[in-house]
Parts: sequence; C-alpha cells; structure tokens
Amino acid sequence: MIALVARECHHFSAAGRDYLYLVPSAAVFALDDVTSAVLRVVGERRQPEDGVASALADRFDAGVVHAAIAELLAARAIGYEHEPDDAPVRVLPMMPFPLNTMVLNVTNQCNLACTYCYEYGEDKIVDTAHGRQAKFMAEQTARDSVEFLLRESGAVAHLTFFGGETLLNFPVLQSTIAYARRRAAEAGKTIDFSLTTNATLLRPDIIEFLADNDVGVTVSIDGPREMQDRFRVFHNGAGSYDVVAPKIKDLLRRHRTRPIGARVTLTSDTLDIRRIYEHLTEEIGFWEVGFAPVTTSPGQQYAIGERGFDRMLDQFRALAHDFAGSVAANRHHGFSNVKDTLEEIHKGVSKAYPCGAGLGLLGVSTDGDVALCHRFAGSDAHKFGTVAGGIDRGAQAAFLERHHIADKTDCRTCWARPLCSGGCYHEAYVRHGDTTRPNLHYCEWIRGWTHTCLEIYGELAERNPEFLARFDREETKTEVAV
Ligand code: SF4
Ligand code: SF4
Repeated sequence: MIALVARECHHFSAAGRDYLYLVPSAAVFALDDVTSAVLRVVGERRQPEDGVASALADRFDAGVVHAAIAELLAARAIGYEHEPDDAPVRVLPMMPFPLNTMVLNVTNQCNLACTYCYEYGEDKIVDTAHGRQAKFMAEQTARDSVEFLLRESGAVAHLTFFGGETLLNFPVLQSTIAYARRRAAEAGKTIDFSLTTNATLLRPDIIEFLADNDVGVTVSIDGPREMQDRFRVFHNGAGSYDVVAPKIKDLLRRHRTRPIGARVTLTSDTLDIRRIYEHLTEEIGFWEVGFAPVTTSPGQQYAIGERGFDRMLDQFRALAHDFAGSVAANRHHGFSNVKDTLEEIHKGVSKAYPCGAGLGLLGVSTDGDVALCHRFAGSDAHKFGTVAGGIDRGAQAAFLERHHIADKTDCRTCWARPLCSGGCYHEAYVRHGDTTRPNLHYCEWIRGWTHTCLEIYGELAERNPEFLARFDREETKTEVAV
C-alpha cells in the first residue's frame, strides 16, 4: 500500500489548541485530538493508512482515524509518497496587472538629514544632490502621473505623496489632489490620498487641508526625544523632537477623519520598542505605530546585527501579546505590525513577490520616471517607463520573470515564504547590489515573527473571532515602507 507522508506545514499552538499553517495554501488548520495524533504518527514514520490506524488503535476507532486522514489529505497537510511536492511553480501574473498605488516623490529634498536615510545617508542609490533629477516635481509631471494612474488602475486608485520631505512641495500636493479628485470623478473611479511626512513643516493651514481632504497621514518619528534626536536631525545636527512633538499633537487634535499612524525606523541604537510604543501612543497620541528595521548595508554602525534582531523579536513578541490581550477584551491596541500580519494570515495571502513593487505599486521620480517603487525612483537601472510616455511593459515583465519566488532557491522550501517571499528589493539592493537576492540575513527574525503572529491569530480565533472577521469587510491597505 502507498505510504502517507507529511506535507509542507508549520505547527503552532495557541489557547491550548494545536494548529497547522499549511504552507502551499497559506491556510490555518485547527487540529483536534485525532488529526493531531495522525499527523504525529505520519510525521514520525511514513506508513500506509492501515498502519496509522493500527498505531492509534488503543486511542481511536479505525473509522475515526480514516476520517481524520481523509480530512488531512483534503487539506494537503499529508499526502501520498509518490505525489510531487508543493514547491512553488513559476506562474506569472496576468498582464497588464492593474496599478493600485502610485507613490509620487514630489521632492527629493529634505530639511532633515537623518543619518540612516536611504535618500541622503551613506546607502543612497540615487544621487539626488548632484544628479540630473529635478529637486521638486512640477505640477504638470504630477498631473501626468495622475493620468497615468487613472489609465492603469482598476475602480479604486491610491495616490501617495512622498519625498524627501513631502511637505516641502505642498503647493503641488495641494493642486494635484484637487486635479486628481476631479479627473477620477470624470473617469468614474474612486481615488484615495495619503502622504508620509517628518512633521517638521506642519502648520495649521496644512493640517486643515489634510483633514478637509481626508488625506491619510503617516509620520516618520523614532520615539521619545533621546531616540528621535539620535538620528533624525536637521542639517546643522540639531535634534528635531522639540520641533515635531507640538506639531504632531496639533495634527492629531485637528485631523480626526482618518486614524494617524507613526512609522518608526529601528536601529541598533534605538531598540527599546515598548518605550517607543508607549511614548508615541500614550504621550503623543498616535492611533497606530509601525516599526521597521533600518535598511542599510551591514557595515554601518547603526545596522541591526544578529543579537539586535533577537532583541527586537523578544520585544515584538511581548508587544504582540499585549495586543492580543487588548483585542481579546475588545480594546484597541495600536501595534500595526501585528495587525497587518494577522490580516495577511486571515486572508490566506501567499506571495509570489515580496511586495507590490513593480506590480500593483509603482514609484515616480520628480522628473516623471516610473520606477519599481518610491525607493528606486530616479534610478535608471530600475525604470519602468515615464508618466508621459507610459509603462514599459517589457521591462516590467522581465522584472517579474526574474523575481518570482520559485526562482529563490533558499525561499522555495521555507515555511514562511507565503508572507515573506524573500523580503524588500531595496534592502537586497543595498546589501548585495542585486534585487533578486533574498534577504537571508533576517530569516530567523522573519520566521520567529511569523510564528508569533500565527500564535496570536490562533488565540484571537478562540477569544475574539469577530475581530478577525473584520478583515473580510475592510479593504486591503497598501503599505508603503519608508
Ligand atoms: S528570505 Fe528567508 S524567511 Fe524570507 S522566504 Fe526567504 S528563506 Fe524564508
Ligand atoms: S518593501 Fe521594499 S521594494 Fe517593496 S515597496 Fe517597500 S521599499 Fe519598495
């Protein structure tokens, strides 16, 4: 008889129950006593169905065991030994793939000089100081970008403004929003706006405009004064905390139409995540806080090393468990990293590409070049056309061919690949000069964090399933990593 074998899955436990994360389908499967026992027997030694039933005869009826085997076969948690494995195969997306989000770099100038910045710091890939690029996007280029987005998008389009410091080009931002709103209405499409800012240039009329126009705002800030001022400094070296804190409070007071989030860059010197979180939510008043490790080459002193990733994971875990406790009691908790991953788990996201860059998301440089994403805007090596001339489908298809998960040797067999898929192209480029390389330096962290989020998912499935059901009703948000 043909033997049964365990297929690719990841075990975890939550709220006193065992679960499986079925890697090829990215589905979560709750185990009961009998399915759990069958899996253990099959995992220990490949054997035919009758062998499994005999091994469990002292605990379960043969009929119950065979029913559990059928259930596990249907879920592909187990299979027959002669069947091919479930490693990803290279199926390219249908083209033209609709554009969902366009990120406009309305300026490459900034009034801060954050040491770790990919635009200005030691790891920059585009020379915005001495290159040929315009320092500010012209109104016509922004309008061409809107036309490009509306041409390429489906019924809903997201326009995100970015920099440099976005608000240095507030006049173009303002006129572009009015233009895009009118053109979207004419085209019968819905358009949504957001921006990222360092908050130094916020003033009452700008805040009023953002609130009136329902613009989503993310503020880049690294935490309390000593952490913010460690890297987020003006060109003269002065810290920015005392400038931004009152302006952010003003923003939070007046802009009530959309929740406002903070986005924190973590470095080896600023890893006190709980303190940062509590400061930004309780003392400043942000609704949500998201954290991302700094993108940098490993030689930089502020790069997070192996021990730093361990520390970061411990703190993420602790905060994620706080999140679960709050949500189980129907209270808000603003740790957005865990919420975003729970949403992906709930929706069974399985990525052939790590993010939307080059697919549903494109960046635009100040002079109208279309790029893989905002971090590559202005880089000739990552150009996908121009907003005036249209998208270069050949370059886009070639990129997607070369970056599929099926071609990433280390990732093909990794259980965390449905959510990671090799990690950020920009990080890979900064580290290895090659966007096709997976970010193997943070695999342990990614797997540890994914495991924690699965545990939280299982816990909330027991304690507050309604919270998870909300993800079915909410539109998927496009994250723009800064
Ligand atoms: S980068 Fe590492 S964690 Fe991510 S999918 Fe590849 S092997 Fe897995
Ligand atoms: S994850 Fe990296 S490559 Fe993808 S959009 Fe963000 S910065 Fe760009």
